[in-house]
Amino acid sequence: MTPDHVLPMPQGGPRTAPGRPAAGTLSVVIPCHNEEAVVAATHERLVRILPDTGMAFEIIYVDDGSRDGTLARLEAIAARDSRARVIELSRNFGQQAAMSAGLDAACGDAVVIIDADLQDPPEVIPEMVARWRDGVDVAFGQRRSREGETAFKLVTASLFHRFFASLMPYPVPIDTGDFKLLDRAVVDAVASLPEKRRYLRSLVPWAGFRQEAVFYDRHARLAGETKYSARRLLGLAFDAVVISSDKPLRLTWAGVAALALVGLVAGATAWTRSSADSSEISLASLVAVACLVATIPTAAIAVVGEYVVRAYREAQGRPTWVVRRTLNAPAAERAIDSARAA
Ligand code: UDP
Ligand code: MG
Repeated sequence: MTPDHVLPMPQGGPRTAPGRPAAGTLSVVIPCHNEEAVVAATHERLVRILPDTGMAFEIIYVDDGSRDGTLARLEAIAARDSRARVIELSRNFGQQAAMSAGLDAACGDAVVIIDADLQDPPEVIPEMVARWRDGVDVAFGQRRSREGETAFKLVTASLFHRFFASLMPYPVPIDTGDFKLLDRAVVDAVASLPEKRRYLRSLVPWAGFRQEAVFYDRHARLAGETKYSARRLLGLAFDAVVISSDKPLRLTWAGVAALALVGLVAGATAWTRSSADSSEISLASLVAVACLVATIPTAAIAVVGEYVVRAYREAQGRPTWVVRRTLNAPAAERAIDSARAA
C-alpha cells in the first residue's frame, strides 16, 4: 500500500544498514480513548519533532470509541493536515485492539506506537529512528523514571513486569510499555498471526528480531485522566498472563501434588492416632481440611475455564475491532471502503 497522502516514499538511495533506506517512511500509531484534552497538543508536538527523523511520516490516530470530544478534534486535525489519518472504531475495543488496528493500517518502513497523553516524550522518536537506521528492528522505550504515578501503581507495575517476564520462555523487557519503534518486518510478522486477541507487550518480544532498549524518563500525563482503574488494570494483567503463557495451566499439577501430600499426611495421622487409640478428630477440623482441600480442584477448574473461554472466543473468529470510518485513508483503503459501501 502506498500512502498517497504523505510525502512520496524515497526510492532506494544510500543505505545506512542492510535493509534500511537512508530516509524511508515512518508511521506513528496513537490509540485514543477520551483524550479530548490532549490530542491537539500531541499533534502539534509530533509535527514539530518528526521532521528531525528525516523521514516522510503519517500519524494514525485510532479513536477507540471515545465518548467525549476526541473524534471532533481528530476530524479537525485531519481536515487541516493530510499527514494525519483517523481510524474511528465502532465502539471501545480496548487499547490492545486500537494499537493493532493502527499497526495493520500503517504504511511506513518503520512504525512507532505512542500513547496520546505525552507521557512518553516524542523527542525520543529520533533516537529510536537512529537505532533503526543502525539495523535495530525493535527500539523499545525503557523507563528510567516515572513521574505522576501513585506509589501503589509503581510498586504493582514493577512487581507485575517481573512476574510476567519470569513466565515467558523468551526474554521480555521489564519497565517497558507500548512506546516502541518496530521495523516493517516485525509489523508484518505480528500482523500475520492468526490469533485475534493480541497482547503486544509479549507478542513483539516473541517475534524475536534485533531488539534494543532506548532509555527515557516518563512524564506525567499532559491532561485528562488515566483510563485504567485498579479493577481494569487487574483484568488486563490477568488477560495478559492467560493470553501469553500456559504456565498457570501447569500449576494444576502443583494442585495434584498438594492434594496427594495432604492425603498422605492425613492418612498417616489417622493411622498413628488409631494405633495409639487416641480420641477422634473434631468435626470443625474435618470441615476445615475438607474446605481447604476442595479449593485446589476448584481453583484448577477456574484456571482451565479461563483458557477454555479464550479458546472459545478465538474459535468464534470475530474480528478484534470494527472500523466505522476512516479519514485521510490511503487510496487502497479508500477503494476497499467504497467497494464496501457500494
Ligand atoms: N486507550 C485506548 N483504549 C482504551 C484505554 C486507553 O485507546 O480502552 C489509550 C489512551 O487513550 C492512551 C493509551 O491507551 O493513549 C494509554 O492509556 P492511559 O494513558 O490511560 O494509560 P496509563 O498511561 O495510565 O497506563
Ligand atoms: Mg498514560
